[in-house]
Amino acid sequence: MKIGFIGLGNMGGPMAANLARAGHDVAGFDLAAPCPDGVASAASAADAATGADVVITMLPNGAILRDVAANVIPAMRTGAVLCDCSTVDVDSARAVAQQAADAGIGALDAPVSGGVGGAAAGTLTFMVGGSDDAFATVQPLFAIMGQKAVHCGASGAGQAAKICNNMILGATMAVTCEAFALADKLGLDRARMFDVVSTSSGYSWSMNVYCPAPGIGPQSPADNDYKPGFAAELMLKDLRLSQQAAESVDAHTPIGARATELYASFVEDEGGKGRDFSALLPHFATRGRV
Ligand code: NAD
Repeated sequence: MKIGFIGLGNMGGPMAANLARAGHDVAGFDLAAPCPDGVASAASAADAATGADVVITMLPNGAILRDVAANVIPAMRTGAVLCDCSTVDVDSARAVAQQAADAGIGALDAPVSGGVGGAAAGTLTFMVGGSDDAFATVQPLFAIMGQKAVHCGASGAGQAAKICNNMILGATMAVTCEAFALADKLGLDRARMFDVVSTSSGYSWSMNVYCPAPGIGPQSPADNDYKPGFAAELMLKDLRLSQQAAESVDAHTPIGARATELYASFVEDEGGKGRDFSALLPHFATRGRV
């Protein structure tokens, strides 16, 4: 397949490399990042999109996606598919899909979970919004870049799934960290707490797979001085998207809102930027009630 790939950063670079390694003809474009091995360097986003069967974007936010889409859609051939894998707001995903449809082009919102490790290993999970036809076209590429692609519904449904998942993740990580900090003060050993909770009704991915306490449970960023992993500022971005979406449809999300406030203070005022999102544990552990 002929593929245009726009946004070759931490995630897009290895994803594009995996497609090229699998034998696809990939032309890449990024304002700053270099093209990975096997990916031909295009002069512009529109150049990368010209003649492509599928154009994949992996960009920082919805405003940049809208700009890039406005440039690439006119360059794409009728019947091609624009597949955005970035995490962006639901409204931008739907606006870009409408613009593509007006030009006779298919569109998918297909954000991922699995992080930089999953992008490199080709084990991402894709949550996808858009038509059955567009999904069927891109499915073979999802199978190269990832281990699972779930077709969640119409345009925007992929981004909706992503932000709902990450709102749960942000809230459960925050409460797992505060529970460890409470256990410390109650004189409960962290390892015993893990033994109990990881096999009791308080268990979660945050506790069992990505335990925020160093030296306990499987290896996680806590065992590497809280180097990300999944940076606190990326969690804040996703939590803010969840609250923006909740606002737009008048949904009551008090726990998501509180998790957003916690991560905003942590990232913006309390030294959390550049640390893993599980570094809320040492942060809580040094505090009393306020
Ligand atoms: P990144 O900053 O490493 O990569 C983004 C790339 O886009 C950069 O190389 C930048 O130069 C390029 N870019 C910006 N504007 C551009 C333009 N107009 N034209 C062409 N290129 C442009 O970010 P990343 O970590 O690769 O994340 C990409 C997306 O994936 C984000 O939406 C992020 O939320 C999401 N995501 C990231 C992770 C993660 O762990 N890093 C996990 C899941 C989802």
